[in-house]
Amino acid sequence: MQHESKTPYEKLTLALREAATLDSVVGLLSWDQETLMPPRGGALRAEQIASVSTLVHERRTDPQLGDWIAQSEDDPTLRDDPTRAANLREIRRQYDRATLLPGSLVRELAETTSLAVQVWREARAASDFGAFAPWLERILRLSRSKAACYGTPAGGELYDALLEEYEPEMRVAEIERIFAGLRARLTPLVAELLDSGRRPNDAPNRLRVPVEQQQELNRRVAERIGFDFRGGRLDVSAHPFCQGLGPGDTRLTTRYQEDSFADSLSSTLHEAGHGLYEQGLPKEDAFGQPLAESASFGIHESQSRLWENMVGRSRPFWEWALLEANQVFGGLLEGYDADALYRAVNRVEPSLIRVDADEATYNLHIMLRFDLERAMLRGDLSVAELPAAWHARVLEDLGLEVPDDRRGALQDIHWAIGGIGYFPTYTLGNLYAAQLWSALRGDLPDLDERMRGGDFSALLGWLRANVHAKGHRYP
Ligand code: ZN
Repeated sequence: MQHESKTPYEKLTLALREAATLDSVVGLLSWDQETLMPPRGGALRAEQIASVSTLVHERRTDPQLGDWIAQSEDDPTLRDDPTRAANLREIRRQYDRATLLPGSLVRELAETTSLAVQVWREARAASDFGAFAPWLERILRLSRSKAACYGTPAGGELYDALLEEYEPEMRVAEIERIFAGLRARLTPLVAELLDSGRRPNDAPNRLRVPVEQQQELNRRVAERIGFDFRGGRLDVSAHPFCQGLGPGDTRLTTRYQEDSFADSLSSTLHEAGHGLYEQGLPKEDAFGQPLAESASFGIHESQSRLWENMVGRSRPFWEWALLEANQVFGGLLEGYDADALYRAVNRVEPSLIRVDADEATYNLHIMLRFDLERAMLRGDLSVAELPAAWHARVLEDLGLEVPDDRRGALQDIHWAIGGIGYFPTYTLGNLYAAQLWSALRGDLPDLDERMRGGDFSALLGWLRANVHAKGHRYP
């Protein structure tokens, strides 16, 4: 009865909140799968995720929503309200896109990827590409079907239809142009750095630090930069990630090795950067609406990379963090000054693993994945040929021999979760982060001084006001 007095727009936002609530259950199931679930729970988990994902899809493609959207679009008071008009624009785009996918395909994708990620984890541990290959074939086939349902944008290619999910309105042609320019500058820069013969000493990061002490430091740093632990957690997983479940619940994970505390801290800063964005979105009021969603995966990545690199690899940050680390590690770093830590975490060295890559080589890892996944989607590169193509490209771009597929084509989780089209958002995120950093430094002339004292509030305040609070208001 109460529904009667509501406008179509109000009914729409209520229905979207319900769908988002149901979707947050999928998020929680996935989080649990990566952190706590016992291995034998995998088959049930795939069914659970498939069932709930199908319900979410039904809610989001309900023809009743289509009617409410159309009625809202006809409402002149809505058109004149920039906030609600922006929301409606994005609701329309998402609805039109979702209704192109049949529920059966959504179910098959959800179930296949949930199982595939479990196969991938074991295949990676055993460096057994053959075990994962049939699953990658299946995922590519389903991804082609999905892209065909969405349709190739005019003048584009099949991959564009998938890219749209992660970076709306971005196109392959544009990415190729951006990547070519970046590559032309990065390749000689990396060569120059390596030829210089100056290799910062990374001994501080090789010191043995017990995991409990690393956990304590990670938690302190995440808290200090503004992550709210009353509305979040930090746990351990094989592949660090951030899951923004909804208002008041944002989950972060990281990983630990006793002889590389700075890598774990770096992963934590990265995921906490995502987490700060999730906690800064206006979810209390607008959960389920585009206003409370990130603008794109690339923008999301700009937030993580900004904290990881612009902050976490800066000298002012280490002037504060070294004191903190010494306190937690019982003086272990007393022989080093902030400059030594700053140099150690900025060491450039081509490596096999993307997530451990330095800033100079990182984007080369992304370009490789972008090219190979497009070739596989088009059918120009078969799954069987992937490992060899990977090895050849790593040799060409980074000058390294890939000793096994664990450190080659099996290293990332993305293809196993069906994330074809996801990789380029990392490099776009790096570039967006650089632009944001340049803008915010102009607004915050005393930023270095503040960071030296462990004060990140002005920086977070700037990001809150200029990025987080905007949600998906702008295309
Ligand atoms: Zn990230």
